[in-house]
Amino acid sequence: MQTSAGPRARAEVDLAALRGNVRALRSRMGAGTALMAVVKSDAYGHGMLPVARAARAAGAAWLGTATPHEALALRAAGIGGRVMCWLWTPGDPWRAGIEADLDMSVSGRWALREVTAAAREAGRPARIQLKADTGLGRNGCQPADWPELVGAALAARDAGLVEVTGLWSHFACADEPGHPSIAGQLDLFHEMLAYAEKEGVEPEVRHIANSAATLTLPESHFDLARAGIALYGLSPSPEIGVPADFGLRPVMTLSASVALVKRVPAGHGVSYGHQYVTPEETTLGLIPLGYADGIPRHASDRGPVLVGGVRRRVAGRVAMDQFVVDLGGDTPEPGESAVLFGPGDRGEPTAEDWARAADTIAYEIVTRIGARVPRVHVNESRAGDENERRAGDENESCAGYENERAESGQSGGSGQRGQGAD
Ligand SMILES: *Cc1c(COP(=O)(O)O)cnc(C)c1O
Repeated sequence: MQTSAGPRARAEVDLAALRGNVRALRSRMGAGTALMAVVKSDAYGHGMLPVARAARAAGAAWLGTATPHEALALRAAGIGGRVMCWLWTPGDPWRAGIEADLDMSVSGRWALREVTAAAREAGRPARIQLKADTGLGRNGCQPADWPELVGAALAARDAGLVEVTGLWSHFACADEPGHPSIAGQLDLFHEMLAYAEKEGVEPEVRHIANSAATLTLPESHFDLARAGIALYGLSPSPEIGVPADFGLRPVMTLSASVALVKRVPAGHGVSYGHQYVTPEETTLGLIPLGYADGIPRHASDRGPVLVGGVRRRVAGRVAMDQFVVDLGGDTPEPGESAVLFGPGDRGEPTAEDWARAADTIAYEIVTRIGARVPRVHVNESRAGDENERRAGDENESCAGYENERAESGQSGGSGQRGQGAD
């Protein structure tokens, strides 16, 4: 694609690929299931606002964030429609959340107390969603405490302080298909839903699926599926497949300009600690990205990089701002593009390759790319989206279910490979 990375480095974010991923995900869901695009943590490092707008344009009816501050930032940027956030801490801005029409998760009594107090002050009811801990053991309400939380939420509803818009939960091991906890969590979710509904809760949405469950477990879809990593074109785990297996295309391409090329003799130590020593006379390329930019130091001596059409490896330690690759005698011009990862179909490594090199998951590779790396959003306009043109969908806001059906009929889970206008 680009021949030069431009100044220093950039993370190119292909919004046509992102929209294609939204359509690929929706094509796997029934007409009764809406999609929540999870845009927390700056959209997993991809830039929250452009990603949120693109996801909406492709038919994500809901947006999801972790913190209320992230959700309020969406509103401050003028993004409408349903927005849910789930990671609340005592003292957080509940009243602002009410006034911004957020759907706010409640996992325990302290949160219900704070949100009802805020609703009294605001003079209007809060939209809350009760979260059940069906086995993740992280946030959410334990089954033993569920009757008390449900009872208190119903009392608050009857007092006009809250609307219970949702009941929801989160999987622990959805990325390991067949893991016994998956069926166990689904069973418990059904039980906790049945209890709340018997008591009189009438949730608009019930949801438990993340990306892995959206891709592999249709019985977990309920009314809403919350997709994060798949939206960004990455597989939740190599165990369930590669992105292309699901019609997904990686959205981020991280590249840098080679800062220096030089010839060095055999036996020359490279970077701090001389962990790498040149085995013979060779050329070295300096790549101006380091762990401050999110390049994992754990990938020292291992991370793959495409320079001049050839795969190279990090030579020696990744430093704060830079690392070195052994160019094996090649002499690319300084300023030539070094591609750390991208979709993988132009010979470049993928975020999954870096995850393997650094002993982590692809989520962490893209999410931790630092603020010093500019995000360059390309294909912002939908003109290049062939599927949408054929579907004749002119609706820029969150699509209605009619559009969702029309589009999923067209997209069919395949043929999602980058219809970008480049
Ligand atoms: C981050 C997150 C998701 C998205 O998970 P992916 O595996 O990226 O799809 C969904 N739900 C909750 C509660 C989350 O925190």
